[in-house]
Amino acid sequence: MALHLVDSDKSESIFDDYAQPAATQAIPKYKLCNNSSDPELVRNLLLDELLLDGNAKQNLATFCQTDLDSNIHVLMDKCLDKNMIDKDEYPQTAEIENRCVHILADLWHSPQSATTIGCSTTGSSEAAMLGGLALKWKWRQRREKEGKPTDKPNIITGPVQICWHKFARYFDVEIREIPMEHDRLLMTPEEVLKRVDENTIGVVPTFGVTFTLEYENVKAISEALDKLQEEKGLDIPIHVDAASGGFIAPFIQEDIVWDFRLPRVKSINASGHKYGLSPLGVGWVVWREKTDLPEDLIFRVNYLGGDMPTFALNFSRPGGQIIAQYYNFIRHGREGYKRIQQACLDHGIYIAEEVKKLGLFDLLYDGKSALPGAAWMLKKDVNPGFNLYDLSDRMRTRGWQIASYSLPANCEDMVIQRVLIRHGFSRDMADLLIEDLKRCIDYFQKNPVTHGFTEKEAGGFNHS
Ligand SMILES: *Cc1c(COP(=O)(O)O)cnc(C)c1O
Repeated sequence: MALHLVDSDKSESIFDDYAQPAATQAIPKYKLCNNSSDPELVRNLLLDELLLDGNAKQNLATFCQTDLDSNIHVLMDKCLDKNMIDKDEYPQTAEIENRCVHILADLWHSPQSATTIGCSTTGSSEAAMLGGLALKWKWRQRREKEGKPTDKPNIITGPVQICWHKFARYFDVEIREIPMEHDRLLMTPEEVLKRVDENTIGVVPTFGVTFTLEYENVKAISEALDKLQEEKGLDIPIHVDAASGGFIAPFIQEDIVWDFRLPRVKSINASGHKYGLSPLGVGWVVWREKTDLPEDLIFRVNYLGGDMPTFALNFSRPGGQIIAQYYNFIRHGREGYKRIQQACLDHGIYIAEEVKKLGLFDLLYDGKSALPGAAWMLKKDVNPGFNLYDLSDRMRTRGWQIASYSLPANCEDMVIQRVLIRHGFSRDMADLLIEDLKRCIDYFQKNPVTHGFTEKEAGGFNHS
C-alpha cells in the first residue's frame, strides 16, 4: 500500500483491531449503539464471544446434525437470498422441495409415492403440528358426517417429545400420554387400547424415542387397531413421529415395518436436520396418499404470482436447507446413507460395551436395535462418589456434552445418561470419550462428591 496522509476520521484503521475502541471497550449489549464500527472487527468480536458456546462436534446430547461438508456451506451461501415460500420467484427451489417429498414418500413405501403430498417444514415440531392438524380435520369431517359432537378430540402418544404437548395445547386436543413404568418404557398395543375411543383423532408412536432412543412398535400398534376396527368399527389412523428413525431404519433396519407399508399409517414426520444430515432448519411431513391431507387445510395464494398451494405454519423461510437436503440425497444415495448410519450405530454399540465394562453402570439401551447411541444408569448398589449430573459436569471440562436427565412420568426416579452418535463421529473419538470417562471416574474416586447437583444446577440439558 502506498504511503498516504492519514485522514483523521479514518486514523483508527491503521491500528491493530484489538487496539481500536470497539475492542478496548465493552461492546454494547442491550441497547443499539450510536455509531458504526469496522465490519470485520465486529465479526471477529462476535466470533470470539461465540467461542464460549459448546463445541458442536463434542455435543453428544443433541440429535441434530453438526457436521456439514464444505459443499453444503457453498450451497447454503448461494441460497441465502432464496425464500422457499416464493414458489413463483424460485420455481426450482420449489421443484427441488417437491422432489425431496417424493424421495421420502418412496423411501417410506407410500403406495402413491409419485403423486402423494407432503412438504418441508422448519423441523419435526412444525411437521408434527401439520400432521396433527390433518388428523384433527379428518376426524372432525367424519364426526360431522355422522352428526356426532366434535368438541372433545384426543390424541394418544407414548412418552413424547415436547412438540406433541405443544400440538395438544395450541390446537385444543386432549393428550392421552401413556406414561412410562419401570418395566415398560414404551407405548404398547394394550396401553393404546385402554385409551382409544370415538374421539381419538389418531395414535402417534415415536420411532426413536427422545429419552431412550428406542423404537415404539408401530406394527404391533397398527395390528391392535386393525383388530379394534373389526370388533368395534373404530377406524383410528396412525401418524408416526419418525424425527430420527425415519432416516435410520430405511437404511440399516429395513426389516422393521413401521412406515406406509402399514395401511393405517397415514402420515410421517422426520427431521432433515437430524439424521437426514442437513443443516438446522429443515423437517418433513409426508402423507400416505393425497387424500389423507384434507383439502381445506391448504391455502392458495396468488399475490406472489401464480397459484401456489401452501400448508405451513410459517410463511417466509430460507430455501438453502431444502437444497442441502437434496444435495445429501444425491451425494450419498442409499448406499452412502447406509454406510454413514451403520458407522454411527457401530460406534454407539462400541461405547455401550465399553461403558458396561467400567462396572458402575447398567445399560438402558445397548445401541443395537434403534437409533445410534447408548444410554445407561448408575448401578443401584454402587456408591462411586458421584451422580450422573456430576459426571456430565466433569466431562464438560474436556468439552464433552453428555445429557443426564430424569425420565418422565412415571419414572422420574430414574436418572439416565445418554449419548447420541451422529455423522462426523469416529472410533477414535469414541476411544477418547471412554478415556475421559475413566479419567473423570478416577477423579471422583479421589475427590468424592458428597452432595450431588440437582438437575437445575447442572444446567438441565434439553433433549432436542
Ligand atoms: C427432535 C424431535 C422432535 C422435534 O423435532 P425438531 O426437528 O427439533 O423440531 C420431535 N419428535 C422427536 C421424536 C424428536 O426426536
